[in-house]
Amino acid sequence: MAAMDIKPIQEMYGSMVFSDRVMKDRLPKDIYQAVRKTIQNGTHLELDVANAVAAAMKEWATERGATHFTHWFQPMTGLTAEKHDSFIAPEGDGSVLLEFSGKELVKGEPDASSFPSGGLRATFEARGYTAWDPSSPAFIKDGSLYIPTAFISYGGEALDKKTPLLRSMEALSLQAVKVLRLLGDGDVTRVTTTIGSEQEYFLIDKEMYLRRKDLLFCGRTLLGAPAPKGQEMEDHYFGVLKPKVAAFMHDLDEELWKLGIPAKTKHNEVAPAQHELAPVFETANIAVDHNQLMMEMMKKVADRHGFACLLHEKPFEGINGSGKHNNWSIQTDTGINLLNPGKHPGGNLRFLTFMTAVISAVDEYADILRVSVATAGNDHRLGGNEAPPAIISIFLGDELTAILDALENGGSFDGAGKTQMGTGAAVLPHIMRDTTDRNRTSPFAFTGNKFEFRMPGSSLSVANANIVLNTAVADVLESIYEEIKDVPAEELEDRLKDVLRKKLAAHRRILFNGNGYTDEWVREAEARGLDNLKSVPEAMPRWISDKSISLFTRHNILTREEMLSRYEILLENYCKTIHIESLTLQEMVRKDFSDALVNYMDTLAEEALAKKKLLSDAPCLMETKVLSVLDRDAAAIADLVGKLAEDTKQAEKIEDIQEAAEFYHGTVLRDMEQLRACADDAEALIPDGYLPYPTYGKVLFSLR
Ligand code: ADP
Ligand code: MG
Repeated sequence: MAAMDIKPIQEMYGSMVFSDRVMKDRLPKDIYQAVRKTIQNGTHLELDVANAVAAAMKEWATERGATHFTHWFQPMTGLTAEKHDSFIAPEGDGSVLLEFSGKELVKGEPDASSFPSGGLRATFEARGYTAWDPSSPAFIKDGSLYIPTAFISYGGEALDKKTPLLRSMEALSLQAVKVLRLLGDGDVTRVTTTIGSEQEYFLIDKEMYLRRKDLLFCGRTLLGAPAPKGQEMEDHYFGVLKPKVAAFMHDLDEELWKLGIPAKTKHNEVAPAQHELAPVFETANIAVDHNQLMMEMMKKVADRHGFACLLHEKPFEGINGSGKHNNWSIQTDTGINLLNPGKHPGGNLRFLTFMTAVISAVDEYADILRVSVATAGNDHRLGGNEAPPAIISIFLGDELTAILDALENGGSFDGAGKTQMGTGAAVLPHIMRDTTDRNRTSPFAFTGNKFEFRMPGSSLSVANANIVLNTAVADVLESIYEEIKDVPAEELEDRLKDVLRKKLAAHRRILFNGNGYTDEWVREAEARGLDNLKSVPEAMPRWISDKSISLFTRHNILTREEMLSRYEILLENYCKTIHIESLTLQEMVRKDFSDALVNYMDTLAEEALAKKKLLSDAPCLMETKVLSVLDRDAAAIADLVGKLAEDTKQAEKIEDIQEAAEFYHGTVLRDMEQLRACADDAEALIPDGYLPYPTYGKVLFSLR
């Protein structure tokens, strides 16, 4: 049985991917090697090579039923974009040939005028180009051959997330290799960043989803009294998978495996109806592409199973939101994970150097790391009681902290290493205790041989976070290199230790092993001078500070104009998101909720009247009590929805984008919260049958 099960998975895995193995099989040897060289060293790809690859791709894809091809890219919308062309070329005699040229593979020209450019391009300058990224494999989905591409403007500016991500990976490689050469790792020619992004999501009944305008238009609920039960029993986390959910997960795994996405771990999360999927880590660029595909497949497969998959950061008030943990490390082309402490971390100068570089980079550029995860949705999560706070700090664990302390103070401490622990039961195996425990409250935690950045929101592309991380670490590595590049070999170790010591002393304020959810930490972080940027409008100006622009331009990641455009796009997106939420809430309250409220009040009044008719001295206590509460709520709701409408109109008129975002944050969102509080109070008194949409209790606890 087991043997029978293994074969189909191996056959299925990557069956829809034009992978390295397929290229090796189908391309002439010299062509294959030319492509490998381009992928590994970024060398220019000649047209004859592109032609040969295109021909092989077309043949492979059409054999698998593909009729179209599309360049696939990641504009600043946060989603992916595609435009399909068929392979057919009519012959004139009624027959067709199937064609796909190297030119079509390498370059596309989508009319780009409707994608956000943040002022980089006026609408009349419609030209944009997509350029093939050979380092991320093409794949077949829904009868089309998908070609991962970068998206740039007519003037060469990046209009997407892939372009700067690739640039940041280059920058980090360049600086890391320079440092490694000095440290004696002469055979390393390239380092890559690796990412494994754990994806959280909610699954709810599709019919219920369709009946809630807030979920439909905004991806999150804007109203809703809490269900009698939430997540307080802690009975969902790692709980038994419900059969329908298990069937969905099984189907999803298969779809992902076909696309060569290494889906690995699946389990129930903390909140009711919340789940998680983690893949095996891959090269950053591919991992980012795969995460986008994973999110898309989650929604598609959910629909097939009668579910809606919610990827919003905070779909429900009062229970945990969803994040995307960005596990990140650096690996050499000789196979060394540079964040692996090894058996003797205290004496592992290479590890200490890279560890110090990451610590320094995260402290130095904490504010833009915070910006990299700043969205309207994620604002509801960061600082809530389940997510990392908006303050960035690093968890290392006691042992590594002690090792770095020793380095800083000129002593030596190698760490105790893993120790064996008894389980107290003879039949159980002895297990090794890890050198560090876990800390779930830290936004940036060292987890043995990688860092886990926990701030990204569930719906966000992880490209931005990694662009910032790679660039910041590249910058610190360069400064380390500059300080030791001319030091004679025999003094190198001492001088390098001096440099690391200085860096640790300057940046150790970012290290925090305690509980990041407490108020004491907020106070202590403030005393340490760490930023606590709580919202998008508070964080965004840091993106265009002189320091940040200087960082990105120095390493050729983004130009000043590209940075300004991203600032505009993100703030605009923030304002639009809250604007849509405000209109949705107004409509739900005015049309749906008020209708239910009035109907129920009528019923109560009629009941009271009917009773009085029968019994003139009937006190009607229940009816009058509830009626008077609801009447007060109804009046307050009418006032509050009026205020929300007025303030939203005012927000629309503000021209300065920063000012507008601040107004949406400080006024419109506050209006929405007040209105919601009042409506939720009333909802708690109204029988479910009066509401035209399902309650929290139904939405969260209906899956079987
Ligand atoms: P943990 O239990 O500490 O979270 P896991 O082994 O479950 O660690 O890994 C969590 C995620 O981290 C997975 O997606 C995994 O592939 C990824 N991961 C593991 N090693 C690395 C690495 N070197 N670089 C990037 N991601 C990694
Ligand atoms: Mg993890």
